[in-house]
Amino acid sequence: MNKNYKLNDKVIMKKPHACKTNEWIITRMGVDIKIKCINCGREIMMGRLEFERKLKKVLGEEK
Ligand SMILES: [Zn+2]
Repeated sequence: MNKNYKLNDKVIMKKPHACKTNEWIITRMGVDIKIKCINCGREIMMGRLEFERKLKKVLGEEK
């Protein structure tokens, strides 16, 4: 799996958000990763290990 993610990349997680959307944008990269649901704008923060465990696919930066 491609785990070369970076800030502003669009990603797909293993589980969709509660709003049924499963596309997220990485809005913060530090010790913790913050992702924002592209549908409802809700942001979720989690540790890198947890993020990588839940990550399904990196789609890359929006052109
Ligand atoms: Zn959502």
